[in-house]
Amino acid sequence: MRFNPKARLDTGRVRDRGRGGGGGFGRGGGSMGGARMPIPGGMRAGGGIGGVIVVVLFLVLTQCVGGGVPGLGGGSSSAYDTSRFAGSDRYENCRTGEDANDDVDCARVAVENSLHDFWSDELGDRFRPVEQLATFSGSTQTGCGGATSDVGPFYCPGDSSIYLDTTFFDAVLERQLGGPSGGFVEPYVLAHEYGHHIQNLLDTMSRVRTQQGPTSDAVRLELQADCYAGMWARAATSTEDADGNVLISELTRQDVEEAVAAAGAVGDDRIQEKTQGQVTEESWTHGSAEMRVRWFETGFDSGSLDACDTFAADRL
Ligand SMILES: [Zn+2]
Repeated sequence: MRFNPKARLDTGRVRDRGRGGGGGFGRGGGSMGGARMPIPGGMRAGGGIGGVIVVVLFLVLTQCVGGGVPGLGGGSSSAYDTSRFAGSDRYENCRTGEDANDDVDCARVAVENSLHDFWSDELGDRFRPVEQLATFSGSTQTGCGGATSDVGPFYCPGDSSIYLDTTFFDAVLERQLGGPSGGFVEPYVLAHEYGHHIQNLLDTMSRVRTQQGPTSDAVRLELQADCYAGMWARAATSTEDADGNVLISELTRQDVEEAVAAAGAVGDDRIQEKTQGQVTEESWTHGSAEMRVRWFETGFDSGSLDACDTFAADRL
């Protein structure tokens, strides 16, 4: 990824909610805000496998205490390195493409801006921006109920927002790819979630009647989001700015395969429907990795919404 250093970034829709709390684990979140939940053994966040173990343990712990043990409901944990999270000012210094080239947080803003511009052009009058691209760690409240890290990245139609726990994401990427950069992984995930936003705008979600099985509507919805991600990637690799720069200078099939595999490892994503104030835990099928890559390529090769009509496809 290479951003035009002179491009202006718009941070208006990208928010960081900081850590845990917020009532995501039920009652007591407010009073526990900012408190630290000690983890026996005094573990610390670290790189490599240690970090992954800490994250897994954190998830186990939060799952265990999530049932309402008094006083442990805050969702805060000393296991995370908080230095990267400065609450709402996480994106404050993201002003130009140069910042995006230097900083993964600012790169997230730049990718959101690129998705915004691409889909605004593509949909015209039908376009509405996402309400928020919200990053958090631990837990957060959404228009689809409370969400925790283990849900993975997701789009909530109820508040037209994308939610991303970047700590969990980083840990999985580290395990998968041996480094936090991951190349195309995060842009792919963001583009896929943005694809669900487009489906929301186009009322495609109402076409989903069947949830189970490899040719179900739920799978078709997921593969279409991959196809939409491919449409954006086509533009991002070919559209030149005023200075002749393209956003993504090179994208190989291996990059795409890697991104699809990593997204699956992150826990995939789920479209969270509003059900009694709870995030639904039912599992969604996304189709095989091979199908996902193929539909991404369909969007990439065609650049066409019509070509991404997975609901009309005989063969997925
Ligand atoms: Zn999805």
